[in-house]
Amino acid sequence: MITVDKNLCPQNHHCPAIKVCPVNAISQKNYELPQIDQDKCIKCNKCIKFCPMGAIQNQ
Ligand code: SF4
Repeated sequence: MITVDKNLCPQNHHCPAIKVCPVNAISQKNYELPQIDQDKCIKCNKCIKFCPMGAIQNQ
């Protein structure tokens, strides 16, 4: 399951990983912790490789 670690995500900007997801599974309300829609996610790991903070993880 792909998750966003709230301790690593600074939650102070628009999440740039949203645009790398090929199935639009990542959403974010304001600057809050991004949410992964597990039903949409195809586990391609693109967001994990992309996130500069290493906040998106597969666990
Ligand atoms: S693993 Fe791929 S499909 Fe799943 S949220 Fe990340 S970029 Fe989107």
